[in-house]
Amino acid sequence: MPKLLEGKTALVTGVANKWSIAFAIAQAFVREGADVILTYQSDRQKLTAEDLAQELGIERLLQCDVTHESELEQLTASLKGTNLHAVAHCIAFANREDLARPFSETSREGFLLAQEVSAFSLVALARATRPAMNPADQGGASLMTLTYLGAVRVVQNYNVMGVAKAALESTVRYLAADLGASNIRVNAISAGPIKTTSARGIRNFTKVLEGTVNLNPLRRNTDPAEVADTAVFLASVLGRGVTGNVLYVDAGFQIMGLTLPD
Ligand code: NAP
Repeated sequence: MPKLLEGKTALVTGVANKWSIAFAIAQAFVREGADVILTYQSDRQKLTAEDLAQELGIERLLQCDVTHESELEQLTASLKGTNLHAVAHCIAFANREDLARPFSETSREGFLLAQEVSAFSLVALARATRPAMNPADQGGASLMTLTYLGAVRVVQNYNVMGVAKAALESTVRYLAADLGASNIRVNAISAGPIKTTSARGIRNFTKVLEGTVNLNPLRRNTDPAEVADTAVFLASVLGRGVTGNVLYVDAGFQIMGLTLPD
């Protein structure tokens, strides 16, 4: 079978460790023949990022904290001469306290921080990578992000991050409308709960995994590899007609209304 991303170059952000959804996406992009570039947030993650890149056979690693305009400008400069076909935004952050306290007590700083890192950063990354994007190929260029059901429904303890994800999903639609004429597609994948470092910051996250597994139509939890394969679809020519969408990869949980006990 031909590889779906042969001849394409993809930038993947947010690889913190082997459990990161971004790691699964980078792995799937490499499997499909893409030339992958990783970004990491700061010096603190450099060695880990280098190890993970080596494991995947990835040679290009760039540092970029999305809250620093100078680092976004540096990213644009570093990508000069690169023909980017896909960009995966896999970045989010909220203060642990803001995920633990009642929502009405969310701090102003915590609210703004979650919005900046988790939602505005998609606009910032779109702007920083656009000069390198190569939308001329069949399928155009593809920008994608990761979201969660807490954007559209109340999920206990997701709190300030749910509001940030709502802004992120709206950002996807506005960017899709804005960049569509340039043949740049923008989509979100709404992943079911997956045990990662970020997810562990959500109070009782293990209970979320245990509590939903039997409610999911597929009767299992979401595998990061399934999210990654959807990212491959969006990055590839197969996704050429899809923009402005939120694709649920959650074992079907989002369709469920009421489940009665046996
Ligand atoms: P993760 O491995 O902890 O990834 C989060 C990434 O965001 C980390 O690499 C982190 O870098 C990065 N990041 C935070 N602040 C940043 C900044 N200022 N600049 C650059 N990078 C920054 O967790 P994950 O679950 O895979 O999260 C990836 C995405 O999937 C997030 O958007 C998350 O909301 C979304 N998602 C997760 C789930 C789930 O259940 N896990 C479900 C749906 C959606 P450092 O580690 O270096 O701080």
